[in-house]
Amino acid sequence: MSFNRVEIDLAALAANFQLLASRLPATTRQLVMVKSEAYGHGLERSALALARAGATAFGVAELEEGVRLRRAGITGEILVALGLSPDDDPADVLRHDVQVVVCGAEDIDRLRPLAGSGGAPAVHLKVDVGMGRLGCLPAQAPGLVDMVRAAGLRLAGLMAHFPLADEDVGATREHLQRFLSLVARLRPALPAGCRLHIANSAAMLRGLGTELDWVRPGIALYGAGPAGLAPAGLRPVMAMKSSVVQVKEVPAGSGVSYGHTFVTRRRSRIAVLPVGYDDGYLRRLSGRAWVLIRGRRCPVVGTICMNACMADVTGLPEVTAGDEVVLLGRQGDEEIAAEEIARWSDTISYEILCLFGSRNRRVFRGV
Ligand SMILES: *Cc1c(COP(=O)(O)O)cnc(C)c1O
Repeated sequence: MSFNRVEIDLAALAANFQLLASRLPATTRQLVMVKSEAYGHGLERSALALARAGATAFGVAELEEGVRLRRAGITGEILVALGLSPDDDPADVLRHDVQVVVCGAEDIDRLRPLAGSGGAPAVHLKVDVGMGRLGCLPAQAPGLVDMVRAAGLRLAGLMAHFPLADEDVGATREHLQRFLSLVARLRPALPAGCRLHIANSAAMLRGLGTELDWVRPGIALYGAGPAGLAPAGLRPVMAMKSSVVQVKEVPAGSGVSYGHTFVTRRRSRIAVLPVGYDDGYLRRLSGRAWVLIRGRRCPVVGTICMNACMADVTGLPEVTAGDEVVLLGRQGDEEIAAEEIARWSDTISYEILCLFGSRNRRVFRGV
């Protein structure tokens, strides 16, 4: 067993889902984004907890993740956001009853042979209204809608994605408007039951696109931002914990770790922690991060190694080997949020969660 673990609070995940649901119009459903191991929280366990909380639609990046959800017993709708990979067997789409994002004629052609015998594969046409990523241009959408129908596929959704929902409300309104005017133009060609969806967490929290059939929250479910937008009551789902392996007293003038980038200025107590960049605790956090020990914030000093880093616990004479260390999460009255670690390492909370979650043993609570 490793010294380190991420604790996943499934009760907090369920509560976040329900809090977000309570702020939506009664007719709007959440497609919960559980791609990338549910942002590091563990695909199957997170999806099952969300299903128990009432989730009926699940978003993944790849078909293989959708198959894993079915094997885990998820019976709700599943949307594969990246479409099929070159190695995927298109027959799995019907076999596992997943819905697939399509962006162009090639995607439709790949699914065409499935139509007919075993039922119609369900697809969501993705339109690029400003994201500059996956999706057809709005002008191509009418032709593709016709092509989907002609191929015998079922158009189960029309969707787009916001590029600036967390930073620019004006631009996001414009992107939404672009999507809505396309919908208005396409309306006569859209089959009954074609779901419209565009909002990610930030847009949801701003109330943009929430009147459509689906919203697609990710980060908000995991209680980690977007900064400044999260409603009171969203709870962080992930914590990362370890324990002190050694504490030592060193004189003033002692270098700590590779490169001696930190040299003690006074007689110091240094705690050695079994956490390093291999555990997702990035080397670039060296000299910038803080951890919680005995309910107090302690600075990480010196260079972070592959499997170790050091915290200055000079003010805390009671710290001993075996003490719990919280790198992410709450200890006593103190808390370190994913947003804060993201700031220290010039990134976003999403990356911290993916990283910590994928590099460490997961322990589930609140089941
Ligand atoms: C990841 C993703 C989301 C969720 O975004 P958050 O910012 O985490 O809410 C929504 N839609 C698509 C297409 C995504 O890939």
